Amino acid sequence: MTRPAVAFIDLEAFRANYQLAASLSGDAQCVAVIKANGYGHGICEIAKELPLSTLAVACVDEAVQLRASGVDNPIVVLEGAFSVEEARIAADLKLQLIIHAGYQIEQLETVAADIDVWVKINTGMNRLGFAPPAVSQALSMLRGLSSAQVLGLMTHFACADEIDTSETKRQLALFSSTVKSLGNAADGLLLTAANSAALLAYNASHFNSVRPGVMLYGSSPFAHRSSESLGLKPVMSLESRIMAIHEIETDECVGYGGTWRASRATRIATVAIGYGDGYPRHAEIGTPVWIGDRVVPLIGRVSMDMLNVDLSFHPDAKVGDVVELWGKNVSVDEVAKSSGTISYELLTGVTARVPRQYLNSLSEL
Ligand SMILES: *Cc1c(COP(=O)(O)O)cnc(C)c1O
Repeated sequence: MTRPAVAFIDLEAFRANYQLAASLSGDAQCVAVIKANGYGHGICEIAKELPLSTLAVACVDEAVQLRASGVDNPIVVLEGAFSVEEARIAADLKLQLIIHAGYQIEQLETVAADIDVWVKINTGMNRLGFAPPAVSQALSMLRGLSSAQVLGLMTHFACADEIDTSETKRQLALFSSTVKSLGNAADGLLLTAANSAALLAYNASHFNSVRPGVMLYGSSPFAHRSSESLGLKPVMSLESRIMAIHEIETDECVGYGGTWRASRATRIATVAIGYGDGYPRHAEIGTPVWIGDRVVPLIGRVSMDMLNVDLSFHPDAKVGDVVELWGKNVSVDEVAKSSGTISYELLTGVTARVPRQYLNSLSEL
């Protein structure tokens, strides 16, 4: 047997989450965001589960990887091109580029081939996009190029996951008023604003295209709502096994820095997974870990290749038992909360050392 750390990827759960997102989007086009290696799940394997959908990636390189593995879906590149060279590749591969800055319009001036583009409007995130008063000029410059075909307008929300809705409402109103101010220049353009949180929480943000990401992987975009309550199914199950068991005495410590000290004689297990696999080093003592049929608490600091748990309330656990770090029994959202981060970081952070094993792919049906 080899080292048992593995990420099982349930593609049936992924397809079910996409179906849920698509049904919530109604008539709007449901673009599946699969950037960052499909949020850590494997970009090509994930893409092949949605043969009919438009996909979104962060950069041209990710789209190149998809095309090389035979994915011929429409692909939107969310950061657009970084150079003329990339814009050319994008045209060759029939990618749709987001245009968020003037230098990207200049790039297109030198690319002769046809290319589909979206214009990004900065409505308050202050990361990418044209300021509302500059959108009209960007549009007319793009339309003046023989190479570019403008498909639509987009924006991105900064706070759609929060209970306080005022900032999202303000961004939404600014997006709508900017589109309106363009008059006929906006006729026939697609409009897209919603990420997962907005798709789930703001019907008014759906327009005619939505861009869910994290919910497709079965994680909740909201701190205050569980994925289960949203009807989402966990896609990744990060698992390993117990590789050692010890009985320690009162006052003995566990792990680097001796941060956990036994208050009584304690049975502990060492599990073959650590931060070198993407399990967060900042997971606090008490973070839930699933073994067999119950939760046991993480103890001590997470090491690069291993971590420890307290077996006090799991007397039957033995070497070789399967351990779920997150998945169907312990949600990745809970582990993220116990580690001071969000599921996005944990999912995208599962390292290349962890083999992905795919279950229930379309090709098996
Ligand atoms: C990542 C991303 C999304 C998806 O966001 P989720 O919160 O994962 O749903 C949508 N739009 C843009 C521009 C993004 O960068």
